[in-house]
Amino acid sequence: ELILGIESSCDETSVAIVKDGQTILSNIVASQIKSHKRFGGVVPEVASRHHVEQITLCIDEALQEAQIDKKDLTAVAVTYGPGLVGALLIGVQAAKAFAWANQLPLIPVNHIAGHIYAACFEEELQFPLLALVVSGGHTELVYMKEDASYEIIGETRDDAAGEAYDKVGRVLNLSYPSGKEIDQLAHLGKDHYHFPRAMLQEDNFDFSFSGLKSAFINLVHNAQQRQETLSQEDLAASFQASVVEVLVKKTIHAAKAYPVKQLVLAGGVAANQGLRETMKQKVAEQLPHSTLIIPSLRLCGDNAAMIAAAGQTEFNKHNLADLSLNACPGLSF
Ligand code: ATP
Ligand code: MG
Ligand code: FE
Repeated sequence: ELILGIESSCDETSVAIVKDGQTILSNIVASQIKSHKRFGGVVPEVASRHHVEQITLCIDEALQEAQIDKKDLTAVAVTYGPGLVGALLIGVQAAKAFAWANQLPLIPVNHIAGHIYAACFEEELQFPLLALVVSGGHTELVYMKEDASYEIIGETRDDAAGEAYDKVGRVLNLSYPSGKEIDQLAHLGKDHYHFPRAMLQEDNFDFSFSGLKSAFINLVHNAQQRQETLSQEDLAASFQASVVEVLVKKTIHAAKAYPVKQLVLAGGVAANQGLRETMKQKVAEQLPHSTLIIPSLRLCGDNAAMIAAAGQTEFNKHNLADLSLNACPGLSF
């Protein structure tokens, strides 16, 4: 089976073709980051306009690179939420038009489910499974008792992990999005400032990053007032040490309460080297009966291959949409 996936929930226009839910034949990603950098974040209107310009080009390129004829496709899968409404609408509209014109079934996909299914390109998913999704807009622990079944057992009460990285990056005068650069700086510094580790003592699987963000901002501002300069490397290392410790400990705590065959680390922040390394080490030490799967770096950020993969499982369960499908910006599981 050949699924054409379409993703446009935020600032990446992407189209992919995936065979049998496991082989990527093409995965075209048109990033708009350059256009948003000077505003220090994603500007919804700018994002929509870019998607309109890119979407048909990406569809053509994905078909061409995969050397697939439209006639041979099985279905079209599209992200219909969560995300920016104007951005989502471009993908949904393009998917509906393409499905209608080529008489193909239409599969609605949740973007967060897509992030989780990015792991299936590394290894076949086995259930029950626990996924830590860490991205620009989400930080949640998702329990999956079987394919295409999702239960959120914990989530952030305020900022998402990626959002915290980007906000702290702004204070350090780094350009948006700053997760990757903070990660690189962190490897050159030490956890000298030892920021708070929020909610670690609480018996739940929720997260909070706004206290950490405030502690970071206060430290930097107070130093500025005293005209002291703090080490960027140590600040980055201290911030990252707090984020990583909380994410890893909470995930292990959850996996002990919900025993699973596999653990998945997913979302844009799963590209973080510090998080990948610590998670691997702690899971190996403390959860000998679970395997950890982390998508390859290029599949952690937004892309349509992950949407096609999640779409394949929905297709297998006959979860289809008709042409009345609409964008759902606040979609949850
Ligand atoms: P969502 O998936 O919640 O709708 P999104 O799609 O905007 O949000 P992603 O594209 O999945 O988010 O991830 C982008 C986020 O990942 C940004 O906040 C970015 O700073 C962060 N990020 C990317 N690479 C790294 C890294 N190496 N370390 C930490 N954060 C990173
Ligand atoms: Mg993005
Ligand atoms: Fe995303």
